[in-house]
Amino acid sequence: MTQRKAVSLISGGLDSLLATKVMLEQGVHVEGINFFTGFCVEGHTHAIRKRDQQKEKRNNALWCAEQLGVKLHIIDVIEEYKDVLLNPKHGYGANLNPCQDCKTFMIHKALEWIKAHDFDFIITGEVVGQRPMSQRKDLMPVIARESGANDLLLRPLCAKNLPETLPEREGWVDRSRLLDFSGRNRKPQMALAAQYGFTDYATPAGGCCFLTDENYSKKVVDMWQHRPSRDYELDDIMLLKVGRHIRPKDNFKLIVGREEGENKFMEGYRKQFISIYTTSHPGPLVLLDGRDISDADIELAGRITARFGQGRDAETVDVEARLPGGEIKTFQVAPMPPHAIKPEWYV
Ligand code: SF4
Repeated sequence: MTQRKAVSLISGGLDSLLATKVMLEQGVHVEGINFFTGFCVEGHTHAIRKRDQQKEKRNNALWCAEQLGVKLHIIDVIEEYKDVLLNPKHGYGANLNPCQDCKTFMIHKALEWIKAHDFDFIITGEVVGQRPMSQRKDLMPVIARESGANDLLLRPLCAKNLPETLPEREGWVDRSRLLDFSGRNRKPQMALAAQYGFTDYATPAGGCCFLTDENYSKKVVDMWQHRPSRDYELDDIMLLKVGRHIRPKDNFKLIVGREEGENKFMEGYRKQFISIYTTSHPGPLVLLDGRDISDADIELAGRITARFGQGRDAETVDVEARLPGGEIKTFQVAPMPPHAIKPEWYV
């Protein structure tokens, strides 16, 4: 018998780990695919922030693939994903997460991939009723249809609750050995993980990307509201993951490094943004993101920068502002008093 080949959407969470394992147990050749949208929660911020230093800096998708002994293809979809986020046909979830369109997009990409690589079908770790937006029972066939995958899409963890797919009908997989998980209860998954001997799997709280995070989503919306167009580049969305974001005026905001790791990360952006720091006292690196920035704006930014440094109680602080072209402006400011930094400035 020909060994059938499936591609598994591996996010790094427990469900896709288990779904893949269920298929491997049935003798299917499985390779993983992981789409990089720029919003993924993987390693990035853990590597930057000190308070996260204890957390293991691992890419969970790679870790899953290693546990399973399967090949993982990490595919950059940053550009194509913009349309998913900017124009989701089915709207957003609780925050800026366009889960239904996101799933449809990823399964469609996986379909293109299996066609190009001569694979037979696609598997995901979805479970009926687990997430309100993308894993409702009535939406599962919609996602299968709109992605174009139709019955080439098999969800091993809940397949018995869904109509038969081609791999089941053709006998490539044994339906009786698939599962019937449903709902938000995670105990069946945990029991199956224990049965397979997986103990150290990731347990992301909200979802697999930053778009499910309320604070992050607010920053994205603020960015769009203050730009001529509702668009973004990878650098924008990376910078939304670091620092305090303070918008004292409509035409600019400050990104204030909260610790050394963030300051170092932000150093890499000094050729793109005006950067400010205090020279008379230790303090954060601050990036100024905006347009039509005047000298008065830079001075205001300098005063706020001084507020977050060790010179916050000094009468005056020396500040240096470096423009993207390399020009340097130096000046002295009085640190802004704490009450003058309005709560509504914090994005
Ligand atoms: S949580 Fe993020 S990555 Fe996961 S389906 Fe929703 S939008 Fe897509």
